[in-house]
Amino acid sequence: MPESLIHRSLTWVEIGLAAVTFIALLFVVAPYGRHERAGFGVAIPQRIAWIAMEAPAVFVFIGIYALGDHALETAPLCLLGIWQLHYLQRTFVFPFRLRDPKKTTPIAVVLSAIAFNVLNAYVNARWISHFGRYSLADFESFHFVVGALMFAAGFVLNIHADGALLRLRSPGSTGYKVPRGGLFEYVSSPNYLAELVEWCGWAMLTWSLSGLAFALYTAGNLVPRALSNHRWYREKFPDYPRERKAVLPFLL
Ligand code: NDP
Repeated sequence: MPESLIHRSLTWVEIGLAAVTFIALLFVVAPYGRHERAGFGVAIPQRIAWIAMEAPAVFVFIGIYALGDHALETAPLCLLGIWQLHYLQRTFVFPFRLRDPKKTTPIAVVLSAIAFNVLNAYVNARWISHFGRYSLADFESFHFVVGALMFAAGFVLNIHADGALLRLRSPGSTGYKVPRGGLFEYVSSPNYLAELVEWCGWAMLTWSLSGLAFALYTAGNLVPRALSNHRWYREKFPDYPRERKAVLPFLL
């Protein structure tokens, strides 16, 4: 079977996984963070878990990218840089901002995230450095400009919203508070909304089925979790703002 067909099939597998994940997470909340609970096997410290889960999106991605026929061309290298901007932050900065040292994540969650990130690295890295064709002229296209602006806005807002949540705890402390201000007045999980905008931006700027597959997976993963977080806030805090939505301002 030609590799292009394998790549295309795995891209569709990722799209299928997005649908399966969306439905499954509506019924079973992923057991990490505020939703961690017994019954999901051995767990490891949360910081190590984050680094392990996200490392394939840095290293496997670079390895697969480097094997591509177009790996040394300027346009694919720029796309590599955009991807790594997000994942270097997520893998090596975000975990060191976590403030609850005792928190753990089940190994089952870590392994499933690693497996997904390896698949996603292949689907996206192989596309940008091998099967896709990109030149600097593409960067003047409407979809690239809009996609790049969305990615940049999502990236900044995601870090900002994660930071606001992390600052609700003083170092070493545990527990949860009601987040206030900015986008938190509109939705319970603006960090997820920003992440969604970011990967929709990636889909636009790469103008590819590979990019779309990851945007759909991100939605399949984060929309049900945002709904669970929203329900959890309402149950835990009786005075939780009634007008606040879960993830899409005014809508959902
Ligand atoms: P959360 O919003 O659940 O938590 C982010 C951090 O803030 C955690 O350390 C959490 O602590 C803490 N926190 C959250 N709410 C409160 C609160 N009300 N009071 C005090 N502390 C709080 O995000 P996730 O952990 O699910 O995700 C982290 C990042 O990873 C996000 O930016 C998300 O977009 C991204 N992500 C992307 C995915 C994708 O598919 N692309 C998948 C999953 C995550 P604790 O952990 O103890 O709850």
